[in-house]
Amino acid sequence: MGDVNAKKDSKGKGRKWLLAVLALLLAAVYIALLFLPYPRAVEFPRDSYRVVWSDGSVTEENFASAASLLDGVGENGEILLRRDGLTGSCFDVENVKAAREILEGGELALMLSMDFSLDRLGSAALYHVYGGTLYFDAGDWFAFTGERAELTQIRKAGRVFFTGGDLAASALLSTEASTLIVGDLAEFSYKTIDGTAVTVEGRTRYLTVDGAIVDAELGGSLAAGQPLATQISVPDVAASKLGALLPCKRLVSLDLPFLGSGPVAAGEKFRGELGYLFTDGNAYFVPDTLKRVRVRGGALISFAFYACASLEEIDACGVDPDAIERQAFAGLENLRTLHTPQKDVVLTGEFVSHTAACGCTVYERKEG
Ligand SMILES: [Zn+2]
Repeated sequence: MGDVNAKKDSKGKGRKWLLAVLALLLAAVYIALLFLPYPRAVEFPRDSYRVVWSDGSVTEENFASAASLLDGVGENGEILLRRDGLTGSCFDVENVKAAREILEGGELALMLSMDFSLDRLGSAALYHVYGGTLYFDAGDWFAFTGERAELTQIRKAGRVFFTGGDLAASALLSTEASTLIVGDLAEFSYKTIDGTAVTVEGRTRYLTVDGAIVDAELGGSLAAGQPLATQISVPDVAASKLGALLPCKRLVSLDLPFLGSGPVAAGEKFRGELGYLFTDGNAYFVPDTLKRVRVRGGALISFAFYACASLEEIDACGVDPDAIERQAFAGLENLRTLHTPQKDVVLTGEFVSHTAACGCTVYERKEG
């Protein structure tokens, strides 16, 4: 019996100890809780965006839905969405307008120092537009990650934004870009795009119109032609740069304010031949595809179409007849039609002529 009681006693002591330890633990937890910071509300990412649609309706979209409908970013920083043929605009995302301006400007220093502070839809929308763009500024390549701009290696990209410095055509080719954006500080010439198949877009200084890329500085000059253009119409500019149309390997038809370097046949630097637009300074590379030229002014020097053997049609209506040399059209063996305000010209082969309504003479090559 004594043994049994002793066992009970020891069991009771064990239980008491256990209770004491539990009580202490509870007290410790309670005290610890007293000193912990008051629990804060957890910040959930925003998940509701107000969208105004082009039919006047307004919807609330969550992030996943809005992100799947992304179509672009507007000038005023509105996020553009597209659904069932409707365009939606979401105006209530902060910092998008400022970020877009920086990304459109493409300046390296500004982009690297920019704190974009975008919410996830703003970030997704800008990445949708600019994520496929590789920026180039004076030797540095950089890109927009969705949250910030980062220096990177040259790589494949849909678009290259040529911000500044001198970009070689070989580098542009290796990006396989289909679009080249030329910023206002870029040292742009035909050399950047010769041998590529890019479509060039300008900003303020470089303007693209009818296949021509015009440098708007100093009265405007023809800087280059679009590589893929089959027809180019150059607006009235003050000058053309040497080799401007070298990138245009598919050119069929060309409309110019003057042949050569400028509208006035004077000065040491004047070059009057059409081939001036197709030379690297060593040789002429006029494409065989070029069949038709219209020239609206300037001067036509002797052998003005030297190295343009494929030409079939020339229209010089509007050029001052006194500025057309007798030998201007000489040597063109494939010429079929010539419209000229100066009747007294030398042609290669036999032609018949008639007078056009404008008073010019039209020469047509004799058949056979
Ligand atoms: Zn005419």
